[in-house]
Amino acid sequence: MKPIVTRFAPSPSGFLHLGNARTALFSLLAALPDGRFLLRIEDTDRARVSAVFTDAVRADLDWLGFGAYIDQQAIWHQSAREAVYREHLDRLSRLAFSYPCFCSPAELAREREQAHARGLPPRYSGRCAHLPETQAKDRLARGEPAAWRFRVPRGETVHFIDRVRGPQTVPTDALGDFVIARASGEPMFFFANAIDDALSGVTLVLRGEDHLPNTPRQILLLNALKLPVPEYGHLPLVLGASGAPLSKREGAAGIGDLRDEGFLPLAIVNYLARLGATIACEHIADLTALARAFSVDHIGRAPAHFDRQQLLHWQRLALAQTSDETIAAWLPADVPVGQRAAFVRAVRPNATFAREFGEWAAVVYGAGPITLGSAAKEALQAVGRSFFDIALDALADQVPPSELPARLKAAGIGGKGLFHALRAALTGSLEGPEMRDLLVLMPPDIIRRRLMDSVGALC
Ligand code: GLU
Repeated sequence: MKPIVTRFAPSPSGFLHLGNARTALFSLLAALPDGRFLLRIEDTDRARVSAVFTDAVRADLDWLGFGAYIDQQAIWHQSAREAVYREHLDRLSRLAFSYPCFCSPAELAREREQAHARGLPPRYSGRCAHLPETQAKDRLARGEPAAWRFRVPRGETVHFIDRVRGPQTVPTDALGDFVIARASGEPMFFFANAIDDALSGVTLVLRGEDHLPNTPRQILLLNALKLPVPEYGHLPLVLGASGAPLSKREGAAGIGDLRDEGFLPLAIVNYLARLGATIACEHIADLTALARAFSVDHIGRAPAHFDRQQLLHWQRLALAQTSDETIAAWLPADVPVGQRAAFVRAVRPNATFAREFGEWAAVVYGAGPITLGSAAKEALQAVGRSFFDIALDALADQVPPSELPARLKAAGIGGKGLFHALRAALTGSLEGPEMRDLLVLMPPDIIRRRLMDSVGALC
């Protein structure tokens, strides 16, 4: 069997968002383990694309872990391939598959209006298709502006099996002779896109369903040029929670935003692998294992909805996969080296993001005062002054902080209130890592200061 060649072909007119990251991921998973995964930068639309976005998209792909699988020797930038598109446009014209169209934008708009008024689809009438060749040549020689149209065969049908949506049949008469190059000579997006897929040996194109209308046109073009036609699979949109499309323009759920929030690439990849697809793997897995469990045939046809709770679920699992040593290396300097492993173990069960280790380090080891939330203040009021007197006396008697709960219990303060008050006084909140773990880690002089600050807060 021929190895699968897939590609990701972003137009760098914005940052990578979850929708196109999923397209890239599915394309990569479809190619692994034996195929090739290509990256092509579709940067011909100079008004919309920028090198900043190209760099950002590539950095995001690398961060997600896809960079290692991209064939780095075969990254194409469409902006550098104009001559190739020119050559194929010329070939179509020589083969009489295309013709110059001199219709002005105003004429075309009038035609569309007339078609609309008669309840017909806005197809080109084919007026310039019948210009005698000599006349067309003369007009071109005089420098009259002309777009180039593909001569669509009449009365035929284009069939293809969409790997996601199933068999597709499009009558060519529904297409009309479409423009393949603007009057400026610039090829249309879908022309360059199809030529590059064929020339780079792509065998399977997975892309957003917004490109589905391009596919029959691309198949006609490739057939006319006797170039290989890949298989296509069009992925349903990824919608936001509200049902509105996620889009680069909305800036919604950009990969960079998620990274800045602290999401790990492993979490994003595992979430996306299951977003709108069923895979034979319930566990968190790396790209190679996800690829073994992935099948293009199990991509759903319904739009997928972004669900932050699901993403958080994978984030917690991804963080759980991160070793104690790795997390210990992220900690600020004021966490003593000898306590780092114990600190990581104490904070881990409650943490979703890596930054929470730093936040807890500031609470446990930070010399500054902490802010008491309203629930924490209530917990302090509930135990009253004697609680703090007993605790402070015990510390003055060199009782280790880990024995404070026993001391307080012995003095008749017990139950939930004890731990709530201790937690509130020492951390400012009622939630967080186990108090018993924190009492071992927190320096006694910080504990003393926090208890004294709490007495102050009672007044
Ligand atoms: N450059 C197109 C886009 O970013 C991709 C088209 C394709 O994948 O065929 O939407």
